[in-house]
Amino acid sequence: MFLEQFPGEGRQHGWIEVICGSMFSGKTEELIRRMKRAQFANQKLVLFKPIIDDRYHEENVVSHQGTSLKAVPVNDSREILENWKNERVVAIDEAQFFDEGLIDVCNTLAEKGVRVILAGLDMDYLGVPFGPMPQLLSIAEYVTKVHAICVSCGNLAQFSHRTTVEKEQVLVGAVEKYKPLCRACYNKIAH
Ligand code: ZN
Repeated sequence: MFLEQFPGEGRQHGWIEVICGSMFSGKTEELIRRMKRAQFANQKLVLFKPIIDDRYHEENVVSHQGTSLKAVPVNDSREILENWKNERVVAIDEAQFFDEGLIDVCNTLAEKGVRVILAGLDMDYLGVPFGPMPQLLSIAEYVTKVHAICVSCGNLAQFSHRTTVEKEQVLVGAVEKYKPLCRACYNKIAH
């Protein structure tokens, strides 16, 4: 379990946290959990999400468990800085869908004393590292990898297997087209 610290006003150094994993691993649930704890600590916070993800209500980030928080939808990483109003905590969901500029944006915010919390898919449906996630995992102070449960054997799952034939990297609004698999079952089924 990730344990955060809340230093007093004016004493916070910034840092970057990444929550990564496959689909159905609880990434967004963990992001929302950390944000709610920051709210209890009276920290000003803002949550950004890429506009590509419209599978639920436009301005909310909703976990599969149904908990939700209001989010600011942005078109690219630059709009995160433009919409940042000195909040001490900046959360970013679906980080894998952002451009490479997100790495500089996160460093810039952390250097200004902001706690940056990112959640994202570390691999696409082919098992390839997704978008800016590899770099974000490298520059983060804290990395949490969460796991789903393999629907074939019950072991820990890290692959998001696509059950349909589409070949695009991004299929918006298609959660039902994926199932979590462990390495052994993914290799058996996907190849
Ligand atoms: Zn399995």
